[in-house]
Amino acid sequence: MYYNDNTVIYLNGEWIKARDAKADLFSQTLHYGYGVFEGLRSYATPDGPHIFKARRHFKRLLESSKKLRLNIPYTVAELVELSYQLLRKNNLNDTYIRPLVYGGQNMALHPSKQVNFMMAAWEWEKYHRTEHLDVEISDYRRPSPLSCHIDAKLVGQYTSAILASAAARAKGFDEALLLDADGYIAQGPGANFFYEKDEVLYTPPEGNILPGITRAIIMDYARELGYKVEEKLSKPSELHKADAAFFTGTATEVAGIRSIDGKRFKVEWEDSIGYSLFLMYRQRVVNKEIQDFTLV
Ligand code: PMP
Repeated sequence: MYYNDNTVIYLNGEWIKARDAKADLFSQTLHYGYGVFEGLRSYATPDGPHIFKARRHFKRLLESSKKLRLNIPYTVAELVELSYQLLRKNNLNDTYIRPLVYGGQNMALHPSKQVNFMMAAWEWEKYHRTEHLDVEISDYRRPSPLSCHIDAKLVGQYTSAILASAAARAKGFDEALLLDADGYIAQGPGANFFYEKDEVLYTPPEGNILPGITRAIIMDYARELGYKVEEKLSKPSELHKADAAFFTGTATEVAGIRSIDGKRFKVEWEDSIGYSLFLMYRQRVVNKEIQDFTLV
């Protein structure tokens, strides 16, 4: 599904066939989850594929790498160029792009000296198949910011995300919503969270979340449309009074939430602020946002 016999990936300075690529079974990342990654999307436009917010994503990748002392020898501009080459080599337009920084052989608990960098792309539908997600508040919590750099895209952190998502799906929900270590609403397993109440948009502040690029864009769009956006800590009980809610993320884009823990929101997704933002997002990603278009 992610590659076929013709798929080309970038690995440590070379373009190679995905089927010929090898990873070391003694990689520190495989054993301990010590690595970082990014997720970007490209959209087909009349002038060819456009990678949405490419610079911001690669900047975050380099920042995440630095936090883990897994530095890679590339600049943001070089990574942007490589990602466009990747699309050209695979003749891809609408895709998801995955750069991954992972350690070499090292079973000791200090950062691997060898650092690997790979980048692949594949066609990936919008992450959720429905626009009306039934969500459960998970018993699993977001890792504490005191335990690791949870504001970076760290490989190992996704264990709790997968556990929360699997538990929710096993009970018939579409997705999980994780609280932070103090019991405040944090985010989805791989997406940020917003809720609406009386025409105001609320989202958890930075600290216990991954500060998503889509989250920042959606806050800008909402303000552009004249809505008030507040970053605030909320307890799950406050959701019972909310009008509507949605997730945001590169893979998720903007996905409406119909119910939380079986309780349906008052306002239908199509009548919510989130839906207007979803339409605005879709329109802007395919029309290339001016800012990134001129920079890239
Ligand atoms: N939280 C987590 C844990 C994620 O993996 C993602 C997806 N990268 C997000 C939030 C959303 O971030 P972004 O909008 O930058 O894709």
